[in-house]
Amino acid sequence: MFSPIDINFFLDKVAAHVKGVQVPVVDLIAVQTKDPFKVLVATILSARTKDETTAVAAEKLFRVAGNAEALDALSEEQIEKLIFPVGFFRNKARFLKALPAALSKFDNLVPNTIEELVTLPGVGRKTANLVRAIAFDLPAICVDTHVHRIMNIWRYVDTNTPLETEMALRNSLPEEHWKSVNSILVAFGQLLCKPVRPHCDICPLLQECPQYEVVPRNPPRKTKKQTSKPSIRLMSWNVNGIRAIEKKGFPKSIAKFDADILALQEIKATPDQLSESLLQPDGYTAFWHSAVRKGYSGVAVYSRIQPLSVITGLGNEEFDCEGRVLTLEFDDFYLTNIYFPNSGDGLKRLDYKLAFNDALLHFANSLRKNKSVILCGDFNVAHKAIDLKNPEANVKNPGYTPEERAWMDSFVDAGYVDTFRKFNQDPDNYTWWSYRFNARARNIGWRIDYFWIDGQSVAKVTDATILPEVSGSDHCPVLLEYTP
Ligand code: SF4
Repeated sequence: MFSPIDINFFLDKVAAHVKGVQVPVVDLIAVQTKDPFKVLVATILSARTKDETTAVAAEKLFRVAGNAEALDALSEEQIEKLIFPVGFFRNKARFLKALPAALSKFDNLVPNTIEELVTLPGVGRKTANLVRAIAFDLPAICVDTHVHRIMNIWRYVDTNTPLETEMALRNSLPEEHWKSVNSILVAFGQLLCKPVRPHCDICPLLQECPQYEVVPRNPPRKTKKQTSKPSIRLMSWNVNGIRAIEKKGFPKSIAKFDADILALQEIKATPDQLSESLLQPDGYTAFWHSAVRKGYSGVAVYSRIQPLSVITGLGNEEFDCEGRVLTLEFDDFYLTNIYFPNSGDGLKRLDYKLAFNDALLHFANSLRKNKSVILCGDFNVAHKAIDLKNPEANVKNPGYTPEERAWMDSFVDAGYVDTFRKFNQDPDNYTWWSYRFNARARNIGWRIDYFWIDGQSVAKVTDATILPEVSGSDHCPVLLEYTP
């Protein structure tokens, strides 16, 4: 027998946990538009398709056909081409081709009752509930496999099908949760309470969850936090393509690094392109912020310590589409993982970079009001002459221009500390070497990867080093020991 759970407590805990995590694509579209037609089409496209793929397909389709009339003007083949490669794209193209005619029975408007919605091609009960909740802001409970599965794990319902779960929830779930339950449980189900081997070991509900018929994954190896040593080991590395270094043995290196938190930059991939060993390294939970453009930029964090919340980007679409910033909030500090823009050949992107820098500083200052802030990553700038081999020859080059260095000065003036220089004042310590001219072997490099911390918290830093012996990328990792 299981004791009844406090559903408000469970859902509030989960909502706090997934705050800032990527929300299902239909919710994202709903944020941009409440147009029922677009929400309906995006929902049809999203079935059995990764969110990233749905988002791209929906955008392509809406550029050509943002309403029923324009959709009606397209042939089925044209729709197929526009929505490829969403799952079952041929079936979905057929449904979409038939949609304008079906809507004509409702005065060319998307209806808002479940009974009417399910008469439309490609619309089942789950889609109908989602459209009703998101597009019309009406009470509806969308039960997909995550909601059905997790509600049964919690023994909040005892049902065999999503439809039975929906009916049971209609009787028991407080109405304030109806519209949000799908978004938060989908995010939670993808992130932690996975269908296979859920991360119970790091789940905020571990103490209270009945874990009905659950086989949790193996507990992670002991972390420094769990041993007598209180410090946290953080590592940051620009991997210059996570799929490229996978071929050089990166998954095994993750275990060898023994970092509690491993921040990666320039991953050049989206999670759907990655193998299981990169998506879920043993003992870690992974967090991602990929660029919209394929194969470009992108940051990720593997963490053994469960964050309280995750913030994706800076809240500025001009920068966030490039997947450059990911922040994890822990009990005692924020960790912000950053891949700063390169100012580019001919300094074409210098203005963009300086605007990004200012937005980042503003963001860090806002976090700092709450708790310690650790900022790590590839800053794409050598701050002082000591930080690169040939300063005079590079004064006009990206990464060492007066403008970029002046911004670093202003960063210092704002109260942030370069942790490596707290321990080491020597020259010839670099984190990046050109692939040309045998530069790494000759140590002709630049120190452009850093851990910085706010000045009030600098006493908590117990070590900061560079690991030039680690190969696999044109950058090497940098390390921070932090004792909260
Ligand atoms: S403890 Fe495990 S089964 Fe329960 S909610 Fe957390 S991850 Fe899911």
